[in-house]
Amino acid sequence: MARILYGKEFAARIKASAEHGALLLRERGIHPRLAVIIVGNDPASEVYVRNKQKTCAELDILSDHIALPAETTREDLLARIDALNADASVHGILVQLPLPAALAAHEDEILSRIDPRKDVDGFHPMNVGHLSIGAPGLRPCTPAGCIRMLEYAGIPIEGKHAVIIGRSNIVGKPMGMLLLERHATVTLCHSRTENLAEIAREADILVAAVGQPHFVTADMVKPGATVIDVGINRIAPKKLVGDVDFEAVEKVAGAITPVPGGVGLLTVAMLMENVVQAAAAQTA
Ligand code: NDP
Repeated sequence: MARILYGKEFAARIKASAEHGALLLRERGIHPRLAVIIVGNDPASEVYVRNKQKTCAELDILSDHIALPAETTREDLLARIDALNADASVHGILVQLPLPAALAAHEDEILSRIDPRKDVDGFHPMNVGHLSIGAPGLRPCTPAGCIRMLEYAGIPIEGKHAVIIGRSNIVGKPMGMLLLERHATVTLCHSRTENLAEIAREADILVAAVGQPHFVTADMVKPGATVIDVGINRIAPKKLVGDVDFEAVEKVAGAITPVPGGVGLLTVAMLMENVVQAAAAQTA
């Protein structure tokens, strides 16, 4: 049976590191502060935002909740971001995704408007560029959290074959870059990949970021592989599952993250690290 990589244990370590960083900043009179903008009332987004604020409070990081109506215009939202960019007491800015349909068409422009030094989601093209050339910068929270988990768990990355299923800008691609940075041999798969099961079976580290319940089955996993399930799929009002058929895969894998209770917790913890990192960089 696989070792279960519970997010709680690793998130606690990431949060402890963020808490310590925040404390050092407060001793210098700097109180790290995150501003979260949420537009409309998507119930899942509201849960995520509440979670982020709760975690900020836990670590004594200030957080501002800016709730805007679904009819907010592109101009209004950009003006809000401009004001937060100009406010030196705000160190991190996050626009909760997904945006309502009318604004989603402008998502690239909106995310690019955030001052890259305050871009704690790591989605700004400048931070994406920094990641791709291996320069310091703010990294996307979900993949960065997965890397921290692998490091804390003592799972080797260097020289290993990492296969990522999914090539989104927020998970798949940055996960690939971060693993590459740590000297894994990386294969990114997507909906047009041929022989996906065969490729997945070669993975020492298999990351599923697809958004389809039970996509990764036991026959796609090499015995002893580490399986990281990023997927969050709601299959009933109160039932969340990942992209991996957990029951079957845990019998084959060497280590596996559960859903819920896995990667989701790492994401929020890494956001706290990013807020502290951003505050430190802006006040150095
Ligand atoms: P996207 O929908 O943006 O990307 C999904 C990716 O999966 C795409 O690259 C797509 O390929 C690929 N894909 C879809 N179908 C197949 C298929 N049949 N075979 C192979 N590849 C396929 O999703 P995200 O990356 O944003 O999120 C992925 C999952 O992770 C979701 O369940 C999401 O809820 C979850 N998530 C969890 C987070 C956490 O904190 N735990 C944070 C962010 C996301 P193509 O590019 O060709 O379309």
